[in-house]
Amino acid sequence: MAKQPTIYLALTDDWELRGDGSGDMDTIQLEPMRRLASIYEDNGARGSFFVEVMQQRTFRRFQSEHPELKALADRWESQVRDVYQRGHDIQLHIHPQWTRAEYRDGAWKLEGKWSLLDYSAEEADRLIQECKDFLEGVLQPIDPNYRCLAFRAGAWCVAPSPHILSQLQAAGIVLDASIVEGINIHTRNLQLNYANCEESFLPFYPNMQDARKVSSRKEEIICVPTCHFIEPKGFMLRRHMKMAWRLVRKRFDVRRKGTLQGANSVAAQPSEYREWEHVNSSIRSKIVHQLRPYLNEGTYQIGDLSALEYPWLRCMMKSIRKRARSSGLSEVPVILENHTKEIRSFKDIERFIKDCAQATDIQFITLTELALRLQNGQFKIQTATP
Ligand SMILES: [Zn+2]
Repeated sequence: MAKQPTIYLALTDDWELRGDGSGDMDTIQLEPMRRLASIYEDNGARGSFFVEVMQQRTFRRFQSEHPELKALADRWESQVRDVYQRGHDIQLHIHPQWTRAEYRDGAWKLEGKWSLLDYSAEEADRLIQECKDFLEGVLQPIDPNYRCLAFRAGAWCVAPSPHILSQLQAAGIVLDASIVEGINIHTRNLQLNYANCEESFLPFYPNMQDARKVSSRKEEIICVPTCHFIEPKGFMLRRHMKMAWRLVRKRFDVRRKGTLQGANSVAAQPSEYREWEHVNSSIRSKIVHQLRPYLNEGTYQIGDLSALEYPWLRCMMKSIRKRARSSGLSEVPVILENHTKEIRSFKDIERFIKDCAQATDIQFITLTELALRLQNGQFKIQTATP
């Protein structure tokens, strides 16, 4: 049997408020980031935080009229510096909906378009360059050698685009982590289809107009897909039964408390989740969407620590090991995702990180290390056969 390759795990995290600007920064950003960093440190790991820069720039823009925003922005900055100085990595994440923001009665109203793909070449170029300069401006005073080398687009929106990859490369980005197989989003703010990407696991040189495709030659920027796995049917059934149970309990609670509104109605959900409702999705189409994978091999899941319970995290690792083995390579980098704002169980994450730390075939890697090692040839980068 072939030797198990070494898996280099990059523990990434999209660090941000919710997509509509809602959420308490202390509760969903500052506190969970500190906790996560401690879990990593206790296990000899270092995380890589994709910090959302447009949010911070907007807080700074409004801070003279609203001193409470200045206080929060100062804490954002000092925590980013602190976490970096403790050995974790900080890289670039951009949500362009903050380009048109209003702040009233303590709440944000974000009117900018959500997808970077919906901006003109000039606008996208300016955004990327300014955000990258901003982030380097935060970290270079404490480390003149800090470089912004890795990028993940807000809501994964990087392809197809005739200009974004070249603009990232011109801004000094070496590695993009926005591609994740299986994503298919059709909301009122976002249209994105990453079903059938040509490379969904190994680092690759992208087609510069469409990162869902692999280039036949070496390019100046490298895509490393964010991990996905196929959730087996048994797990799917367990998840659906849990969902159904939660729904029944919610309905029971509603009846008991005498609330008129249906607990599972869209109106009962926080506004952020309504933003992620698929357009034209009737109850019937939602049920079909949930059931169809039973006829196929299973459901696509993003390797997102915040969304997966421990048994699912183990299942994901099993799938990663299998794909790493079948690649025939001796060293394979894998990018995991996390959303600090969504973490359900720190206990499950801690147990998973502990397992990884003890495994002889797993090493942790930061995005900066990954970018540099890709550049100097330690990891194989896929090209398409012309
Ligand atoms: Zn994000």
